[in-house]
Amino acid sequence: MEIFEYAPAPESRSIVTIRPSYDLFIDGEFVAAKSDERIVTVNPADEEPLSEVAAAGEADVDRAFTAARRAFERVWSPMPGAERGKYLFRIARIIQERARELAVLESLDNGKPIKETRDIDLPLVAAHFFYYAGWADKLAHAGFGTRPLGVAAQVIPWNFPLLMLAWKVAPALATGNTVVLKPAETTPLTALAFAEICQEAGLPPGVVNIVTGAGDTGRAVVAHPGADKVAFTGSTDVGREIARAVAGTGKRLTLELGGKGANIVYDDAAIDQAVEGIVSGIFFNQGHVCCAGSRLLVQESIAEELLAKLRARIERLRLGDPLDKNTDIGAVNSAAQLARIRELAAAGEAEGATGWSPACPLPERGYWFRPTVFTGVTQAHRIAREEIFGPVLSVLTFRTPEEAVAKANNTPYGLSAGVWTEKGSLMLWTASRLRAGVVWSNTFNVFDPASPFGGYKESGYGREGGRHGLEAYLG
Ligand code: NAD
Ligand code: MG
Repeated sequence: MEIFEYAPAPESRSIVTIRPSYDLFIDGEFVAAKSDERIVTVNPADEEPLSEVAAAGEADVDRAFTAARRAFERVWSPMPGAERGKYLFRIARIIQERARELAVLESLDNGKPIKETRDIDLPLVAAHFFYYAGWADKLAHAGFGTRPLGVAAQVIPWNFPLLMLAWKVAPALATGNTVVLKPAETTPLTALAFAEICQEAGLPPGVVNIVTGAGDTGRAVVAHPGADKVAFTGSTDVGREIARAVAGTGKRLTLELGGKGANIVYDDAAIDQAVEGIVSGIFFNQGHVCCAGSRLLVQESIAEELLAKLRARIERLRLGDPLDKNTDIGAVNSAAQLARIRELAAAGEAEGATGWSPACPLPERGYWFRPTVFTGVTQAHRIAREEIFGPVLSVLTFRTPEEAVAKANNTPYGLSAGVWTEKGSLMLWTASRLRAGVVWSNTFNVFDPASPFGGYKESGYGREGGRHGLEAYLG
């Protein structure tokens, strides 16, 4: 197939200043960690180190909770909601002003294409702060009480580093809680840039504290007796461990965990639009998306035609330099994640499914995986059951709507689904039977801060976003 040539259009990285090393952000200042362990964060597109951050130990975490408690009691919870809202509006505006810089920084540290950080992550981050800023003085109308819980312990993953921070910090602050947040170890840099934004906005010291580190730091944050609420986004295994650690402590808990979303395409669907939705459903953000449409369920009568169009579309995806504005698929976030994707893709072949990828060249350095489509997948295959969290699509077919729903629900997860049909009645029939927190109708991976998001079953509990997102932070 002919693929037209194009000139690379890289975004300049000169807009970003990355310090060689970062301290912890506690009580409004960057302070040296008591622990001397450091973590290097790399650019997954070329494996070059970008910076190093502190790995906070228990004493550091304790210091952050002390600062958060003091700020909660003396400043933040007594403050009228309208005043708190002003800080959130200010933060939202600074994020907009610094959006280009933050987008480049996120692409460097995470590996995701600049097209996505610029057009999706950053606009949504600002929108979340604007949205929850608007709630700060209207909590009495939300229907969940008006009292903040206290200090929120928040642990987030690497796939949408700044967006997951926004989903956690904005509602916590709007409701009068203070925060100790731990970003993921492979993507700490935008959270540290956010710490600078808190300073720039004049946010009172201690309202937001950011402690970097890996799983041990996360464990210390979650287990700290000073936490009144724990909010976690990440894998189901770690979520389970956290649920056990928090059980019986009286801490409130919300968990946003993994997923294995089904994208159901009926025979009357607009095929070209469905192909676009399937592509964005699984290849957006290299498939590092908890609500990815990683299982395509296509009605048997159109499977052949749809798969031919899907392959032709995938052959036109551009994989490479995340900072190139033409890039559709960037780097896999880490060597560990790449190893996991490879292992599951190999299991797909070993179990008898057939993998297909376009012949796109891969850069020599960095962590890369070609977009991959598996056909001949059965429900028992590991690639149909386990979350791959990479650019790998499993295709299954169905004959009747009943079969489509049964297959879509045949998963321990329940985060997302997509339904493609022209018939409104079939859409509603299907959507009402799917056990998934979000069901998209003739679209996929569309987000809005006003819309609640969350899971059923092993995808977790609690909702983030929208009015419902306030509930987790009010008592
Ligand atoms: P992960 O669970 O390994 O790590 C998530 C965070 O938890 C990281 O900050 C990590 O350092 C920390 N952590 C690790 N062990 C911990 C422990 N024992 N106690 C406390 N914290 C600990 O997940 P990941 O690989 O970084 O992220 C990918 C996973 O996140 C996928 O399963 C994905 O589906 C899920 N995810 C879910 C949502 C959602 O909204 N449901 C959103 C994004 C990602
Ligand atoms: Mg990194």
